[in-house]
Amino acid sequence: MQSHSQVLVIGAGAAGLMCAAMAGQQGLSVRVVDHANKAGKKILMSGGGRCNFTNYYIEPNRYLSRNPHFCKSALSRYTQWDFIGLVDRYGVAWHEKKDGQLFCDNKASDILNMLLDECTAGSVDISLETAIESVSFIHKENGGDRGVFILETSKGRFSADSLVIATGGPSIPTLGATGFGYQLARQFGLNVFDPVAALVPFTITDHLSGLCKTLSGNSCRVRVTCDKQSFLDDMLFTHRGMSGPAMLQISSYWQPGQTLTIDLLPELDVAEELRRLQHQSPKQLLRTWLGQQLTQKFAECWLTQMEWPADITLAALNGEQMDRLGAQLNQWQVKPSGTEGYRTAEVALGGVDTDELSSRTMEAKKQPGLYFIGEVIDVTGHLGGFNFQWAWSSAYAASGHLAEV
Ligand code: FAD
Repeated sequence: MQSHSQVLVIGAGAAGLMCAAMAGQQGLSVRVVDHANKAGKKILMSGGGRCNFTNYYIEPNRYLSRNPHFCKSALSRYTQWDFIGLVDRYGVAWHEKKDGQLFCDNKASDILNMLLDECTAGSVDISLETAIESVSFIHKENGGDRGVFILETSKGRFSADSLVIATGGPSIPTLGATGFGYQLARQFGLNVFDPVAALVPFTITDHLSGLCKTLSGNSCRVRVTCDKQSFLDDMLFTHRGMSGPAMLQISSYWQPGQTLTIDLLPELDVAEELRRLQHQSPKQLLRTWLGQQLTQKFAECWLTQMEWPADITLAALNGEQMDRLGAQLNQWQVKPSGTEGYRTAEVALGGVDTDELSSRTMEAKKQPGLYFIGEVIDVTGHLGGFNFQWAWSSAYAASGHLAEV
C-alpha cells in the first residue's frame, strides 16, 4: 500500500484523534497511524473507566514543565468550556466528582466514540496495527523549508506534507505506550528531557513496610508536603507502600531520597487538642481518641509502630509527650524507597523540550511541518483531568496551524 495525505498523525490516542478530527473537518486529508489494535486505549482505562476528561479549574499552574509559560497559549485558545461544549453536543452525560473534576456518568468509551465520530466527520483514515519502521523527510524542489515526510510501515509507505507526533508517554507499556516520540524528536535534532514516571504510587521498604501491608486498603485524608508543594486529599495504604490521590499528586514533585511530610490530621493541631482534652476527658485512652479521628485499626497499628503504650490515657501524657505525638501525627516523616514506575504511572514528566516548539502551533522550530502534541511534550498536568485537557488544547493548537499552511 502507498498513500499520500496532507497530514499524517502518529498515535490514535487522546491528542492524535482530536487533532486528526479537527484537521479533517477543516478540509485536510488526514491519516492516523497507530501500532495498537485499538484506538484510545488510555482513554478507555482512564478515570477508573469513566474518563476524567477535563476540570472546571484549568490553570497553567496545574502543569509541570521546564517552561511554565509554554502551556498558556494553547490552554487559553481551547479551554475546558470548549471541550464541555463538544461533549454536550454529543449528549454525553457527565458530572463533577470533586474539585472540578469532570467524569462521564457512564463509560469512558463515550469520549472515545465521540472522538471517533468526530474523525469520521472529518473523513479521517485510521490505520491500526501498523508498525512504523522508519520516518524520513525529503525536501521538495523549490519548496524552501517544506518537504514530504515518509513513513515506512508494516502496511506499506505513507507520505504527508505535515507530520504530527502524538505518541504520548511511556507509562503503562501494556497499553501500547512507548518512547517512540522521543526517539523521533531526537532524530530531527530536538532536545528531549528524559521521562520520569509521575502520578504514581510510592513503594516503601524501610521499617514502615509492615505498617503499610497491615493497613493495606485503609485510607484517610491527609496533607502531604514535599519540596514546598503540598496536596490535601486521600492517602491509601497498599501492600507495597502508599497511593491515593494525595500521594499520586506529590509523586510528580518527589525526587529519590526525599522525605515526605504527612499531616494525618490536617484539620487539627494535635498537641493543642490533647492539652485541651486532658482536662475534659482525662481517663480516655489515647488509642480510643485517635481511633475516633482515624479508624480504630489505623490508630492501633500506627501507635504500636510509633511505640506508644497500648493503654496510655490522655491524663498520663506529659507536655513533651503531647508535643512529640503532635509532631508525629501532624508531621509524620516518611521516606519512600521509590515508585511503582511506568507499570502503573498515569503519566511521565519530561519529554520534548518546549523551547524546540512554537507554543502557538506546536510546530518544531527546527523542522517545519513537524508537530508534537499531548503528553510527548514536556508538559505534565496534575491529577484531575488536566492531562486530557492538555491533549485537547495542544491538538487544537496544531490543527489550526495545519489548516493555515
Ligand atoms: P496517548 O493517549 O497515550 O496516545 C498515544 C498513542 O500513541 C497510543 O494510541 C499508542 O498506541 C500510540 N503509540 C505509541 N507508540 C507508538 C509507536 N511506536 N507507533 C505507533 N503508535 C504508537 N488523564 C486525565 O486527564 N484524566 C484521567 O482520568 C486520566 N486517567 C488515566 C488513567 C490511566 C490508567 C493512565 C495510564 C493515564 C490516565 N490519564 C488521565 C493520563 C492520560 O491518559 C494521558 O495524559 C493522555 O492519554 C495523553 O494523551 P496522548 O494522546 O498524548 O497519548
